[in-house]
Amino acid sequence: MTFQELNIIEPILKALDEKKYIKPTPIQEKAIPPAMECRDILGCAQTGTGKTAAFAIPIIQQLYKQQHQGKQRPIRALVLTPTRELAIQIEECFRHYAKYTNVKHGLVFGGVNQNPQIEKLKKGVDVLIATPGRLLDLISQGFVKLDAVEHFVLDEADRMLDMGFIHDIKRVLMKLPKKKQTLFFSATMPPPIAALSKSILYKPIRIDITPESSVVETIEQFVYYVEKEDKRKLLVSLVKEAQKDSVLVFSRTKHGADRIARILCRAGIGSEAIHGNKSQTARQNALTNFKSGKTRVMIATDIAARGLDIQDLPLVINYDLPDVPETYVHRIGRTGRAGKTGKALTLCSQDEMSMLLDIQKKVGITIPALC
Ligand code: AMP
Repeated sequence: MTFQELNIIEPILKALDEKKYIKPTPIQEKAIPPAMECRDILGCAQTGTGKTAAFAIPIIQQLYKQQHQGKQRPIRALVLTPTRELAIQIEECFRHYAKYTNVKHGLVFGGVNQNPQIEKLKKGVDVLIATPGRLLDLISQGFVKLDAVEHFVLDEADRMLDMGFIHDIKRVLMKLPKKKQTLFFSATMPPPIAALSKSILYKPIRIDITPESSVVETIEQFVYYVEKEDKRKLLVSLVKEAQKDSVLVFSRTKHGADRIARILCRAGIGSEAIHGNKSQTARQNALTNFKSGKTRVMIATDIAARGLDIQDLPLVINYDLPDVPETYVHRIGRTGRAGKTGKALTLCSQDEMSMLLDIQKKVGITIPALC
């Protein structure tokens, strides 16, 4: 199937063409047609599947086709997402896909000065991308009104629950008009999320994209059995072997991430760590440096890396194993995105064997060993 066959309008097709997307991903094929008809959607999919475009394209297209006539530009679409990093990534997608349309968007998230965000809002935006806390703040100060919202996206609903945002979401929902289109995305469906989806969706189309199968298909996975004290040396040689390629290294702890960054820097390899102890600006700078190739290696903790979208990331290394098998799938899913191939290497010491066995059960394969 092609993007043309999904009846996407010319200005958006032009932007997709520039992105060099060849064809829609499975979630885009399934979600775009009903979403364009203003149906509600319940999408079980994680980042890496192309879900941002699956909701952004139909929203831009619907707003473009029914341009607002009045002088004031009310917010007509709201995208709610749990983290600032995700909000920024979604904003980049809207900026790109809408560049040949007159659809305007704004972005609000916490941890930074609110004034530039308010200035942008005052100029009028059609689509607002927001994290819950700052959005509620701006609503209570009277800078945001949601009574004209026609399209509502709830992104990473399960992550919202994990991060304690469920009440905030309910408060936002009360500010939204009853009649609207809702596009609801969650990688998993724990009972509170299933209940929430049931209470806000009207005859939704359900779309399931299972990450496990796609992960196994597109990512080459290998494990190194290694003594704990030999991990450092092995990591340095693996990163050197990767030559000029970008490498994302996962560490279970913040201190571990800092330590690994120091080890690599000492070995002459440009690297930076991102984790929750660093300021928003420091995290954003590290991410920008990594994405642009200025820093070749980024070391991340699981929370900091959640949902990170890094194009062309050929290699992920698990310096240690995550306690939860699902986290392994999230980690290695940073590579091999949207049909590209990728490699994931895991350093497993004796005391981590039981975690590795749980992971293998989860992904349904025995991960081949390299030494
Ligand atoms: P997402 O799941 O929205 O975070 O998207 C994951 C990555 O896939 C992003 O880097 C997108 O730019 C990319 N992407 C989205 N749709 C396509 C497509 N149809 N073809 C190739 N890449 C895509």
